[in-house]
Amino acid sequence: MILQTPKGTKDILPDQTALWQALEETCRTVSKRYGYREIRTPIFEYTDLFARGIGEATDIVGKEMYTFVDKGDKSLTLRPELTASIARAVLQNNLMEQGATLRLWYYGPLFRRERPQKGRYRQFHQYGAELLGSAYPESDVEVIQLAYDLLRGLGLSQFELKINTLGNEASRLAYRTALLDYLRPRSAELSEESRTRLEKNPLRILDSKDPQDRDVVVDAPVYGGYLDEESKAYFAKVCEQLDALAIPYTVSEHLVRGLDYYSHTVFEFTTGLLGAQDALGGGGRYDGLFEQIGEKKISGVGFASGIERLLLLMESEGVQLATDTTTDVYVVTLDDESRTLGGQIARELRALNRSVVTDLQRRSFKAQMKEANKLGAVTVVIIGESERAAGKVILKDMATGEQSDCPIGEIAARFGA
Ligand code: AMP
Repeated sequence: MILQTPKGTKDILPDQTALWQALEETCRTVSKRYGYREIRTPIFEYTDLFARGIGEATDIVGKEMYTFVDKGDKSLTLRPELTASIARAVLQNNLMEQGATLRLWYYGPLFRRERPQKGRYRQFHQYGAELLGSAYPESDVEVIQLAYDLLRGLGLSQFELKINTLGNEASRLAYRTALLDYLRPRSAELSEESRTRLEKNPLRILDSKDPQDRDVVVDAPVYGGYLDEESKAYFAKVCEQLDALAIPYTVSEHLVRGLDYYSHTVFEFTTGLLGAQDALGGGGRYDGLFEQIGEKKISGVGFASGIERLLLLMESEGVQLATDTTTDVYVVTLDDESRTLGGQIARELRALNRSVVTDLQRRSFKAQMKEANKLGAVTVVIIGESERAAGKVILKDMATGEQSDCPIGEIAARFGA
């Protein structure tokens, strides 16, 4: 049997890569519009980074990481997300100048051992942005705006933005206590998974999709009642600015994003078109993360979106991105000498940045024309024996079928040189 890709992974095949590239280009363009610069970090890191940076009580660290011990006896993990890696890179490379704002974006593969299904894979890709150094609500708004522009820039419209606030640390602790007081007496009604989470990460239960948990959570205290004045004012500012920018959103009081280090704004983009895997991306403010992995306190707000989900939604909305897959020229050669000349012509045209394909199988005229057609070549250069003797080639316009002779020395000029 032919070997297969591991479960939950897939090949991105040649007829799909043009679309991936166009999507990446949109990510790049939108990032640049907001002054974000790209950062690339290693695919694997020391396991400890994720254990500390994401939190032991999360599903990701608890059960989804690809962790292995290398020959030097070090525990390494394929990155399951990128925020922790970026925080590490910022600290390690001293990227954060006192009082400055650091705007970063990333794009790349992540690895989580989840149960694969449509829209959920074990190797998947994310685009994300992180804004470091500002503790003000306008930076939350900038990141939300960037994410919104990305989705719109891809031509998407069937999505919704939900936002909520977790408030400052004091509010978070007050709410956590109230939630635990509510959940503890009802623990028997919770799903097994949520029962194990109860003490370590009760907020996460609010996120649960399990119907059993949902029944319990319906009457749970809502966050809003535990927010202090500072937290309320912060969130009001975020909402006010989103309104001013005409970015539509709904406030969803049960949206919590379970990571320990989130505070103030959390948000998520969802769609009704993708079934259970409805999250297109999300993020929030994480003022506590840097302290968890280093000594420094650095404010941050960030966002990440799943590329595969964006592609699925694009497909289901029927939107298309402009992709460049054309072959400009196909060179038909029929004998040994014309192959040499064909090679020279191809080289000359490539130097003019044209995409040129030549026959490498010494096939018949008919078979070469067939390949030219299949590749969607705009022009075919035919080098026949008699034309060559007269110092010419034939140019065939594949759209009109028109043929004309062209002196060999004038080919470049015909292609706009
Ligand atoms: P997270 O880092 O868990 O907040 O996820 C951010 C986004 O990444 C989600 O909204 C999804 O769009 C995407 N995502 C998360 N996990 C997966 C996965 N296993 N397969 C595909 N996309 C994913």
